[in-house]
Amino acid sequence: MSNVVVIGAGITGIQTALDIAGHGIHVDLIEREPSIGGHMAQLDKTFPTNDCSMCILSPKMVDVARHPAISIHPCAEVESVEGEVGRFQVRVRKSPRYIDEETCTGCGDCIQICPVEVYNRFDAGIGVRKAIYKPHAQAVPDVVVKDNNHCIECGLCYDTCGPGAIRREDEGRELILDAASVVITTGYTVFDARGKPQLGHLIYPDVVTSLELERMINASGPTGGKIKRLSDGEVPKSVVFIQCVGSRDMTIDRQYCSCVCCMQAIKNAMLIKEKSPETEIFIFYMDLRAYGKGYEEYYERAVGKGIRFLRGMPSDVIADRKGMTIQIENTENGEVLLLHPELVVLSVGLGPAEEMPALARKLGFTLEDNGFAKPVNDAVDTVATIRPGIYLAGTVTAPRDIPDCVASGGSAAMRAYIDAMRVLSA
Ligand code: SF4
Ligand code: SF4
Ligand code: SF4
Repeated sequence: MSNVVVIGAGITGIQTALDIAGHGIHVDLIEREPSIGGHMAQLDKTFPTNDCSMCILSPKMVDVARHPAISIHPCAEVESVEGEVGRFQVRVRKSPRYIDEETCTGCGDCIQICPVEVYNRFDAGIGVRKAIYKPHAQAVPDVVVKDNNHCIECGLCYDTCGPGAIRREDEGRELILDAASVVITTGYTVFDARGKPQLGHLIYPDVVTSLELERMINASGPTGGKIKRLSDGEVPKSVVFIQCVGSRDMTIDRQYCSCVCCMQAIKNAMLIKEKSPETEIFIFYMDLRAYGKGYEEYYERAVGKGIRFLRGMPSDVIADRKGMTIQIENTENGEVLLLHPELVVLSVGLGPAEEMPALARKLGFTLEDNGFAKPVNDAVDTVATIRPGIYLAGTVTAPRDIPDCVASGGSAAMRAYIDAMRVLSA
C-alpha cells in the first residue's frame, strides 16, 4: 500500500487524512500534542451557524482513530524528510508520554489522585490541570499523559493505576515512515496579547483574550460556561471587544488581517447576550470583515440583538480602584466616549505556528515575510510548495476560517493522492 504523511492533526489535518484514506491510501497522521483535534477543540460554537464545535469535530476525531488506513502518532514531531516525491523517508521523534498507550484505559483514576495542579494551556490559562492529565474530556487517543516537568514523583498514581500503565522511565522513540507525499497542516499560534501591554492583558484580571473567553463560554470549560469577571467572579454588566489586537498593526510588524476575529467576536457577543440579555456589549473595530457565506446576515442578527458596533480603536485600557476606563473616538462622527467596561475582550489575531521556520528548513519549503508558508502561486496553486510532493493546507499559509481550512485540506488530499497513485501504478 502507498502512504502519505500528514503533519498536524487539527481539523485540516483530520479532514485531509480522512479524504486520502477514503481513497484507499494509508496515512500516517503526526501530531505534536498528546491529542488530535487542534484549536477547534478549544472553541465553543462555530460561526455563522452556532453549531457546537466539538459536536462537529469529535466524530471526525473518532473516525480518524478508528480508520483502518490511518495511523495516528500523537506526541510526535518530524525530524527530517529525505528523498523525493514518490519516495520520501520521514523521520519522526515521539516524545516520552510516560504512559503505555496500549495499556491505559483512560479511566482517569490517576488524575483524581494526583495532588499537583498547574497552568492549563488548553483552557488558555484560566483553568488548571493535574501533573498527569488528559488534554480534554474528548481527547483522542483516550489516554493520559504525565508531565514530568511538574510531577513530584509522589507515587500515588502508580499505586492507583490498576492496569499498571504508568512508566517512570520513557525515552520516547524514533519512527521512520515511507511516504509518496507529505501534507503540512500544522495550523497557527494565537497572538500573545502581552505584545500590546497598553491593553492590559495579564496586568488587569478583567482583560481577557478571545481564546480565554471561548473557554469561559464553553460549558465544559473551567467556569462551566459562566461568563464572569476573573477579579470577583461576578457576571459583567458591560463588555467591550477590541478588534485587530495583533493584526493590521504596523507598530508590531503584523500588517495582515487575521480573517476570523471579526466573526468570532460577533459570535461570542451574541452568546454573551443569550446568557445575559441585560449585558451591554460594544465591539470596537477598524473595519468589519464579514465576507463569507451567511456572515453579513450573522452581523445583522447581532445588531438586532442590541450589540453595538463602534468604529474606532482605543489606545489603551486604564484601570484604577474603581475599575477600567476606555476612552474612544467614534471615527464616523467624531464623538468621544468614556466607557467603564466590566470585562474587556481582546480579539487576538492568528500568527504562523512557532515551529514553522524549523519545519520549512526540514522539509525544504519557503516562508512569506510574515512567517506563514509560501505556496508556489497565491492565485492558482495555494497547495503546492517549491519542493514537489510537499503540500500545504489550512492556516499554514494564512489565517482562514474553518470551512476554508477543510476545503484546502480536500485540495491537498487530492494532490497527495495523485502522487500516491503514481507510485502504485509505476
Ligand atoms: Fe487509568 Fe492508569 Fe490510564 Fe491513569 S494511567 S487513566 S489510572 S489506566
Ligand atoms: Fe501526580 Fe506525579 Fe504524583 Fe503521579 S507521581 S500522582 S503524576 S505528582
Ligand atoms: Fe481585524 Fe476583523 Fe481582520 Fe480580525 S478579521 S484582523 S478583527 S479586521
